[in-house]
Amino acid sequence: MELTYLRNNKDKYIHVFSCCIPVKGHERGAIYDIQREEIELVPNTMIDFIEYIKNRKVSSVLEEFELDKMAGKYLDFLEKNEFVFYSNTVSFPELSAKSINEDTSVIQFMTITLSEFISNNLDRIISNINDLGVKRLHVHITDQDCMGAIHELLHLLEHSRVTNVSFSMPYQKIDKKLYNNNRLKALYLFNAPKEKVEANNEVTNFFITVSDARMFLPKFNINTVDVNSTAYNIAKNYNLSIYKTVFVDELGKIKFNISDKTSYGNITDSFEEITTGTIKKLSMIWDIKKEDIAPCNICEFRYCCTVTHIPFKTDDGYAVSCNYNPHTAELN
Ligand code: SF4
Repeated sequence: MELTYLRNNKDKYIHVFSCCIPVKGHERGAIYDIQREEIELVPNTMIDFIEYIKNRKVSSVLEEFELDKMAGKYLDFLEKNEFVFYSNTVSFPELSAKSINEDTSVIQFMTITLSEFISNNLDRIISNINDLGVKRLHVHITDQDCMGAIHELLHLLEHSRVTNVSFSMPYQKIDKKLYNNNRLKALYLFNAPKEKVEANNEVTNFFITVSDARMFLPKFNINTVDVNSTAYNIAKNYNLSIYKTVFVDELGKIKFNISDKTSYGNITDSFEEITTGTIKKLSMIWDIKKEDIAPCNICEFRYCCTVTHIPFKTDDGYAVSCNYNPHTAELN
């Protein structure tokens, strides 16, 4: 422990930055830094330690843990990572758990599979995407030569409310002119000869070796977490994975994810049909929070996980079948 520094602050109080959220899991904990958009996986004992020392005087903590080397290491870690700070003020207000989500979108995230049917109905679909207020749009394409189609789609989205567009497509030569489009954020090239990540202006290219058949299967990995204040706020009040999120298949059917057997409507339906029918049905499970789903309720990722598992009813609540096991902190 940096004892000298701590002793110099001995009359101050220990505070946890309000943008740093300690979350206890079953096997391990996590600290979400929703300002830096980072997550630190830590032992649960550190989460307990944070709870125990917060708002206490440095001198009292130093005295109590004088002979405890682990406590010293924890305090050092928390301070170096800027999770805690010292102040003469006794207490600071914590982040409100209530929703302050001011987003007016009906649907925020949409993944759509390009097909002949979708292409033939593009005007109606783009109009619906716009009216629904979609912010993030991902388009999946299976055409081996799709640069023309991407340019056309980006052109059609020019006056839309979509601010973040990404595409997935088979490995192919990329037209560099795409990098000048400020809506385009990512290109995923599947069936690539090797994995790599490339940044070009604002566009990140992800070269992935898997085939597209596995791309949209709901599967947890550390890239499926979304650590930021908006996501945290949604997760505290709704199910972050499915809230205002849809998957549109090649026939235009609106579902929660690629494996979903239910069609809640069609993206070529009228805007009124979608809002009064489709959205009504989808939203019935938006507020089943991860806190109410097993095993998410004991998972350290429950306030940042975006894997689109659809909760199903059990005798005593809701459950999902996830490839991450929070009991053991292992991926299957
Ligand atoms: S258990 Fe739940 S919260 Fe944890 S990774 Fe799986 S789906 Fe996400």
